[in-house]
Amino acid sequence: FGALEREDPEIAEVILGELERQRGGLQLIASENFTSPAVLAALGSTLTNKYAEGYPGRRYYGGCAQVDRAEELAIDRAKTLFDAEHANVQPHSGSAANMAAYAALIQPGDTVLAMDLPHGGHLTHGSRVNFSGKWYHPVGYAVRRETELIDYDEVRDLALAHRPKLIVCGATAYPRLIDFKAFRDIADEVGAYLMVDAAHFIGLVAGRAVPSPVAHADVVCCTTHKVLRGPRGGMILCREELAARIDKAVFPFSQGGPMMHTIAAKAVALHEAALPEYRSYANQVVKNSQALAAGLAVEGMRPVSGGTDTHLALVDLRDVGVSGRDAEARCDQARITLNKNAIPFDPEKPMTASGIRVGTASVTTQGMREGEMRRIAGLIAAAVRAEPSSPGGAAALREVAGEVSDLVRDFPAYAQVGV
Ligand code: PLP
Repeated sequence: FGALEREDPEIAEVILGELERQRGGLQLIASENFTSPAVLAALGSTLTNKYAEGYPGRRYYGGCAQVDRAEELAIDRAKTLFDAEHANVQPHSGSAANMAAYAALIQPGDTVLAMDLPHGGHLTHGSRVNFSGKWYHPVGYAVRRETELIDYDEVRDLALAHRPKLIVCGATAYPRLIDFKAFRDIADEVGAYLMVDAAHFIGLVAGRAVPSPVAHADVVCCTTHKVLRGPRGGMILCREELAARIDKAVFPFSQGGPMMHTIAAKAVALHEAALPEYRSYANQVVKNSQALAAGLAVEGMRPVSGGTDTHLALVDLRDVGVSGRDAEARCDQARITLNKNAIPFDPEKPMTASGIRVGTASVTTQGMREGEMRRIAGLIAAAVRAEPSSPGGAAALREVAGEVSDLVRDFPAYAQVGV
């Protein structure tokens, strides 16, 4: 870091400032985590210098012996950890993994049945502003109004009516377990492929805290940077039969040279995720989000669907009369980082939103447990209710910020990282 400070003090300042922000507040964005120092070391290594188009043993460049080893280790570890026949660890991101999976399985213009964005789906599940909505024909399914759970009868009815070539399950803001077997049966009934977008919860699968989709899906798309706690990136798991199609859809169809430093860091994260400590971690992530959701409910903030089985909770703020946008801004002032989120059947526009989404991957990495989650629920409630333009509200936000600082001081992130 000394070299960076001398060479480029402006960027060094940004990095230090961001480290301070991450350490100094509560990080409750459900898609974020704190990677280990070992993952950071691999990311910041000279492997970034290497071009390696192709796959291990079949590269378009010389000098790939070392990076071949890194990629083989990542592939083998992914296959073992998830009991998958094939793994592609090259996708640059979750969106890139999804794009490649679509390209491998279906043709432009084909129908894709996936979860509607306002009900928890991701942009790549058919949004009109995304490749998935522009190149394919999306049909969306929703959650049931009364239960806020996926309506499997509706999914089946839509599948029978629209005969999709691909069915996608997995979401960005769905706090409950997904019945992969039910999706498999529906896909089989209409002759569709089943893709599980496990971007959010693959880390919980790695830690055996939730059921695995691997045996049910044709293709499982993942990110490596959420609960899994690896570098920013993507990964695809599939059956051997689809391996060649998936590999070609990643390279050369949708990507060029793989990021070998990131692939090495993915290997490190997959090694860490296979350790017994990681299992305890993943199970604690779920216990913590359940405690946080229950604590928020006590504070008058309703968890959508009544609770959570995963690392995240979606919270309806209408009873407290504060929009998701205002809640996000108030929490930000109090050093609590979370995001506004649409809730199912949200009457507000997405940029306003009636809810917030909270996740426990980062705070659990810091070592917090259920007791801290109850405390955090109280801090969120105090921040959300504080009207910043009133003198009392501004003081309340300062008070919450002070309590947040006290709390995180006892659970330091990157205590051992010397930058
Ligand atoms: N799929 C789902 C369900 C996601 O939640 C996300 C990201 O949040 C992605 C895909 C895309 O991942 P990335 O941001 O790495 O492109």
